[in-house]
Amino acid sequence: MESKIWLSSPHMSGKEQSYVQNAFDTNWIAPLGPHVDGFEDDIQNYLKEDSLVAALSSGTAALHLGLIILGVKQGDEVICQSKTFSASANPIVYQGATPIFVDSENDTWNMSPELLEEAIKDRIKKGKKPKAIIAVHLYGMPYKADEIHTIAKAYNIPVLEDSAESLGSTYKEQKCGTFGDISILSFNGNKIITTSGGGALVTKNQEWKEKAVFLATQAREKAVEYHHKSIGYNYRLSNVLAGIGRGQMEVLDDRVKARRAVYKAYEDNFSNIEDISFLDEPTSAFSNRWLSCILTPSETVREALRLKLLEQNIETRPLWKPMHQQPIFESCPSYLNGVSDALFKKGLCLPSGSNLTENELDRVISAIKTYFRA
Ligand SMILES: *Cc1c(COP(=O)(O)O)cnc(C)c1O
Repeated sequence: MESKIWLSSPHMSGKEQSYVQNAFDTNWIAPLGPHVDGFEDDIQNYLKEDSLVAALSSGTAALHLGLIILGVKQGDEVICQSKTFSASANPIVYQGATPIFVDSENDTWNMSPELLEEAIKDRIKKGKKPKAIIAVHLYGMPYKADEIHTIAKAYNIPVLEDSAESLGSTYKEQKCGTFGDISILSFNGNKIITTSGGGALVTKNQEWKEKAVFLATQAREKAVEYHHKSIGYNYRLSNVLAGIGRGQMEVLDDRVKARRAVYKAYEDNFSNIEDISFLDEPTSAFSNRWLSCILTPSETVREALRLKLLEQNIETRPLWKPMHQQPIFESCPSYLNGVSDALFKKGLCLPSGSNLTENELDRVISAIKTYFRA
């Protein structure tokens, strides 16, 4: 059997170990320390737009604190893109609130602005104005920020921007991760850069950044004795992992280039296969192409292709199963147009890692060409 080709695997630069060694040498083996501050600075300098960053233990933790800071409580409703990974929606439930799912549009595969407005109007008519909107840049493709944020502003609802998959992407030259009232990043093992596990909350609001750090460190009031006036969490990033993050930030732009090159190789090689189509970048968008995705004509073809590739030890994955189809969220109100259901049936994510070797990429391409007899 040939060696396994993964969908998206960690890709170290080699510089991470010197940062980690420094954490050991100085005995900063704690959920605070100079690398945490340095990593936050690195991200702030990268994102610009006056972004303030709180480094956290995961993207999920960042979403949870984001909802708390936006005031989401028991019984509230929060609008969330249906086509996403479950971590976008779970923190709504941590707060005892109800997710309201909104379907996608074909241009970006992200939240449909039209359906978003329809959902907001309908929820208000039914008696509850949504407390927040969670919009996601899926697979690195920016959502239509102008449209989504204009609607959100018109109804005075804050946006929690889930940029877990889109660090390095831009919309109209502005970096993803800087559009939300609060934005989040993820540094999980499969993301474009990784700290093995980690995340960040991004905001321009100094008070909110401080609140995120406060809540993430057990909500300890400034007193020598441990004094608590609110419920806290243990969500801060460790100084050791932040060291990995500092090494990764140095190569982020290279990782984006490499992922885009993988996507381009698929696009070039499959251009004459009628049964494969791609999601083009709208003119306003620059995608980090975190995962390279293709659409096939049907679920039958998609599944047969997936199994064929698996036989050759090549890992692929269907596009995210929409949240409105998940048993756990079945009873949540949803505003649907069929787009995310169709994408789920037809779509497949191909191996996309920035460290794919030429030989591995050739294996994937020739296996797919063989399948379609191209
Ligand atoms: C990975 C991911 C998250 C969660 O990030 P973690 O760091 O794994 O907790 C949230 N939303 C989306 C869209 C993701 O892909």
